[in-house]
Amino acid sequence: MTEPARPHSSLRAESILVASGRPERAPGAPVNPPVTLSATYHADGEPEYGREGNPTWAALEQTLGALEGGQCVLFASGMAAAATLLEDLPLGAQVVFPDNAYQGVRQLLADRERTGRLRVRSVGIADTEAVAASLSGTRLLWIETPTNPHLDIADIEALAAAAAEHGARVVVDNTLATPLRQQPLELGATASLHSATKFIAGHADLLLGAVITADEELAASLRSRRTLDGAIPGPMETYLALRGLRTMALRLDRAEASAAELARRLAEHPAVARVRYPGLGDHPGYELAGRQMSGFGALLSFETHGDGDTAERVCAALGLITPATSLGGVESLIERRARYPSEREAGVPETLLRLSVGIEHVEDLWADLDAALDAAGAAS
Ligand SMILES: *Cc1c(COP(=O)(O)O)cnc(C)c1O
Repeated sequence: MTEPARPHSSLRAESILVASGRPERAPGAPVNPPVTLSATYHADGEPEYGREGNPTWAALEQTLGALEGGQCVLFASGMAAAATLLEDLPLGAQVVFPDNAYQGVRQLLADRERTGRLRVRSVGIADTEAVAASLSGTRLLWIETPTNPHLDIADIEALAAAAAEHGARVVVDNTLATPLRQQPLELGATASLHSATKFIAGHADLLLGAVITADEELAASLRSRRTLDGAIPGPMETYLALRGLRTMALRLDRAEASAAELARRLAEHPAVARVRYPGLGDHPGYELAGRQMSGFGALLSFETHGDGDTAERVCAALGLITPATSLGGVESLIERRARYPSEREAGVPETLLRLSVGIEHVEDLWADLDAALDAAGAAS
């Protein structure tokens, strides 16, 4: 994989998405990176074995790295990426993390505390002063913003500055914002993490994770741990994620515009008690998100009147929007998150519905939601 004469650093993100990670221009050469399905390679080159590297990974790593200004290391899933970042800490290191972080990350940290591997401490991540006050003796500050599914907004720049005073690394889970809407490394973070399963791949057809960092030592260490721990991506998954990534700007523009419109309409609906979307003027993180992000994203959460059963009836009454877990795909998905005990523990309200807005026509999405809310009898 070689970069064309014009360096991608001079291109806008929309163009990097399309132009990066292509094979060298040569007559007869393919325009797309071939899917390299090989466990082993002819001796005396690099890689020698499939756990060390793969040309198809390199294409996607080059593209994601160019988007966020660092080196990208891919993993088998977002959780494999998170686990490897934690594994890179010394025994007994303290980690500060959001009390409503992605449930998988919370469970992973709880597990590492149970086994005595790490010491962990949870904080309200939107409360910058409280987070700063908790950083003494901390090796890693884990930020997620916006949070899934509360949609809280954390001040990356202020928190990264506070962490720097304690010599702590800062990881930002950038899954919801995507590289197109938020640049954690520019704001002072050590590393940005993605569940590339979500908006990056964008089609709900694979799992993949990514870490992007400008810290070369950290990147080398993550690569070496990936080889040793074996949480490597599959070449087919990587190829499909790169294919999905090519259209991310278009997908996200559409989904985000629809999310903003649906958030506004839901906020007026008599069956809806509360809408969480950082693009709404009454969201506590509205101004911060407006500064820190270049768009408010395509995920929103809303609470219905009534109880958990009412919210479940709304999901069951939907025809276009699919009740299913996950987010970030072309298809709109909805889920009552309090169906999971781990989410109830993190304070997710019983009636909270997380809506991942896809690229369907916004009027069809609204008609579906409006009818389901009426059918469920959620109006107060
Ligand atoms: C899905 C998700 C993860 C975990 O990623 P997987 O690819 O499912 O392992 C991490 N963080 C956030 C915010 C997510 O939504």
